[in-house]
Amino acid sequence: MLAGPTAVGKGTVVAEVRRHHPQVWVSVSVTTRPPRPGERHAEHYLFVTGAEFDRMIAADELLEWAVVHGTHRYGTPRRPVERVLADGGRALLEIDLQGARQVRTAMPDACFVFLAPPSWEELVRRLVGRGTESAEERERRLATARAEMAAEAEFDVTIVNAEVRQAADDLVALWG
Ligand code: 5GP
Repeated sequence: MLAGPTAVGKGTVVAEVRRHHPQVWVSVSVTTRPPRPGERHAEHYLFVTGAEFDRMIAADELLEWAVVHGTHRYGTPRRPVERVLADGGRALLEIDLQGARQVRTAMPDACFVFLAPPSWEELVRRLVGRGTESAEERERRLATARAEMAAEAEFDVTIVNAEVRQAADDLVALWG
C-alpha cells in the first residue's frame, strides 16, 4: 500500500513499477474526478458518475473510499484486489491517507509505505510545477499535503522519492 502527500510523485513511481516490475499487480481506482488530458478510462482510473459511485458503495464493492482534497471521491474496487491476493499475487494500491487508514483496519497484514519528498520545498515545487490545477485547487492540495506529511509515523516504511527508478525498486524490494 503506497500513500504519501499529494504531488510527491506517487503516480510516477507507480508507473515506473508497472514498466519495470510487471509481476506486481496495480489496482485501478474508481473516481468521480473528470479525466485529465491523456488519461484513459480503465488504465489510469475508472471514471464514473457520482450515481455510479453511490451504487458501488451501497453494493459494498469498494475496499475503501474517500473524498480527496475536499472535492472528488476515489475508491479501490474490492474484488480485483481480493482475487489477486487469493491467487498469492502481489497487489499495489496507491491511495490517500484516509483510504490507507481504512485498509489498515480491513487488512492489518498489508505493508504501509509512505512516499516522502526529499524536502517540503521540493514538494511545493512539484505541486506548483504540475500546473494542471487552478490556484484554488492548488491551495487545497497544499493544505492536504501538510496534513499528510504529519502522518508519516503511522506507516511501516518510508521511501524518499528523490529518484523515481530508485523509489520504484525500493518499493518492489519490500516484497523480498
Ligand atoms: P489525482 O486526482 O491527482 O489523480 O489523485 C488525487 C489523490 O487521490 C492522490 O493523493 C491519490 O493517492 C488519491 N487516490 C487515488 N486513488 C485512490 C483510491 O482508490 N482511494 C483513495 N482513498 N485515494 C485515492
